[in-house]
Amino acid sequence: MTDRYAVIGNPVAHSKSPQIHAVFAELTLQDMTYEAILAPPDGFTQAVRTFMAAGGRGVNVTVPFKLDAYALAATRSPRAEAARAVNTLTFSPRGIHGDNTDGVGLIADLTRNLGLDLAGRRILLLGAGGAARGVLLPLLETKPAVLTLANRMAEKARALKAAFEPLADGCAIEGGGFAELAGRQFDVVINATSASLSDEAPLLPAGLYAADSLAYDMMYGKTTAFLVAARAQGAARLADGLGMLVEQAAESFFLWRGVRPDTVPVLELLRKS
Ligand code: NDP
Repeated sequence: MTDRYAVIGNPVAHSKSPQIHAVFAELTLQDMTYEAILAPPDGFTQAVRTFMAAGGRGVNVTVPFKLDAYALAATRSPRAEAARAVNTLTFSPRGIHGDNTDGVGLIADLTRNLGLDLAGRRILLLGAGGAARGVLLPLLETKPAVLTLANRMAEKARALKAAFEPLADGCAIEGGGFAELAGRQFDVVINATSASLSDEAPLLPAGLYAADSLAYDMMYGKTTAFLVAARAQGAARLADGLGMLVEQAAESFFLWRGVRPDTVPVLELLRKS
């Protein structure tokens, strides 16, 4: 019987996940379907249960349900525990298992697709929401020289720093507000705020970009105000989050099917469209 998977979100019509997983399934000869399910804001658990009862094998979870998915999972991977957010649920007779593939997706995009070696680099991560939480541990595992967290509400970045310091394993980790970045320089600046959704850029001090630096916006599909400002401030390279999206999807696919799809043709296809 054909196995069924889905992405659950609100909104979800814009999601590229059905297209991505359809190509993965074709490339790896997997007998499966993947659909988009719109759940009402208070209806995530019901939507999951209905899909499970109809024979669903797993779901991806997007805005605004990643915390609900964390709560629903009976067991969770260490990276989901660290992020306190879940974007991949797998159903089995043992129950619902939660994982978070966002961080792996970001690291795969930065290192494989964009060719960066993050070890020893100065990384600035902007934002302290679900996306930032999801990528923090995988970023620390790449052994940067320093990982600096900065958020509009500085207290949240300080709290994240305190929460992740025990996991830093020798890497320097800092947390604070945007103004505290004055006079600093970074090799990689990652925008994990949702400012781009409203065509805004985080209000950053000038001079943050070192020579050969990369500005990366997790938002995809357009040249955001953050990327425009980064270019004006001297960032050598710009990247959006489309690669992260495809790579996190590939990791979810691997968790479900035990096969790793080639992401290059999928990324090329999406860039063309
Ligand atoms: P959350 O709502 O959890 O967090 C929002 C964050 O953005 C907060 O830190 C908030 O700061 C900050 N913020 C919002 N507006 C502004 C602004 N105008 N200036 C500065 N900071 C601002 O969102 P998520 O963490 O879930 O998502 C963040 C982004 O990452 C979204 O654009 C999402 O689409 C993208 N994303 C992309 C993925 C991919 O695969 N490419 C995967 C996951 C997420 P404060 O705390 O001060 O309010």
